Amino acid sequence: MTVVLVINSGSSSLKYQLIDMATESTLASGLIERIGGERAAIAHRAAGEKHEREAVIVDHDAAFVAMLRNFAEHGPSLDDHAPAAVGHRVVQGGRRFFGPTVVDDAVEGDIEELIPLAPLHNGPNLAGIRAARRVFDDIPHVAVFDTAFHTTMSDASSLYAIDREVAEKYRIRKYGAHGTSHKYVSEATAEHLGRPLEEVRTVVMHIGNGASVCAVDGGRSVETSMGMTPLEGLVMGSRSGDIDPAVLFHLHRKAGYDVPALDRLLNRESGLLGLTGTNDVRDVTRRIAEGDEIAETGMAVYVHRLRHYLGSYLVALGGADAIAWTAGVGENSAEVRRRTLEGLEWLGIELDHERNETRADGIREISTDASRVRVLIVPTNEELEIARQSLEATGLAG
Ligand code: ADP
Repeated sequence: MTVVLVINSGSSSLKYQLIDMATESTLASGLIERIGGERAAIAHRAAGEKHEREAVIVDHDAAFVAMLRNFAEHGPSLDDHAPAAVGHRVVQGGRRFFGPTVVDDAVEGDIEELIPLAPLHNGPNLAGIRAARRVFDDIPHVAVFDTAFHTTMSDASSLYAIDREVAEKYRIRKYGAHGTSHKYVSEATAEHLGRPLEEVRTVVMHIGNGASVCAVDGGRSVETSMGMTPLEGLVMGSRSGDIDPAVLFHLHRKAGYDVPALDRLLNRESGLLGLTGTNDVRDVTRRIAEGDEIAETGMAVYVHRLRHYLGSYLVALGGADAIAWTAGVGENSAEVRRRTLEGLEWLGIELDHERNETRADGIREISTDASRVRVLIVPTNEELEIARQSLEATGLAG
């Protein structure tokens, strides 16, 4: 049995998943939250049971010790299910990492060097890698970058129209994000359609709390809506997405907003939350049904931006074979899908309303049989994609 351990290490959290690669099924998963806080919450799921406890976890090294204890106490045993590799999610790979990379000290150094481009993510990702390499010191560790899938984008779609020297000096360009998910979903879409990946054009709508759209042509990302950071693009749970940059000058001059205040406003107090007071599409939808006009306007702005990107990416691809919805909102909100695709029959996009409203597990089609563009719901699985790429990078894949 080949087993891979997948690690997603955030600033105060550690998520892990142990995956059996023969069946691509999860043997165990866990989440350690509030690392460095007063009391960390520790959860471990295995064999259909959830085990929870609290403890003081001072840092990522301690979190790995807690993870090992979870496996020892609740199984499966890591002696019987020894991982062949550890796959790590890393957010920012810049223009240095174009695919999954086996970690050595030099790679650690490069990830560290990229911290300024993703200050909230790369540091904690690296802390997880370092701690994991100390615990599992005799197996390969692989870094899988969120940005790697988008390194196929052209200069035309990823350069900003600012002074070229400034942009180069400060490495300002569109890197995109959610790449692991966009890759997984676009490949699953081609497989579902029963067509070679090289021939399929898909618009992937990864709509969760964070959200991005990606145009995938023959397995290659050609456009994506997130930018140098995950702030650009769609209206998200609490991020504004696209905005006139002059709004920032205005707020600074008129209201004295400094950089931290602007950062907070756009990243944490905007999006659906800013527009309606809640970042959760379920609440917004419920309020709309009750006749709440603020919720209705918020949803209208949210959907307007989705349609803007969908239209743009249909042009970039020269038409699409499929539109694939994924992540929390994409997989679950019939309302958002319906509003986004409304009136697009002239483009060959015909939603089947009954299929759209029907809840089910797994990959499924929600377009009519006559629809030229197939509309799908494709549940994402970033952990599995990281595990697959990790095996591939170590040469252990069958
Ligand atoms: P992220 O990984 O970016 O934090 P998720 O992909 O988990 O986000 O998506 C979370 C969001 O999905 C929630 O904030 C909520 O808006 C939305 N969501 C989850 N379930 C439903 C549902 N049944 N109907 C509509 N929206 C939902």
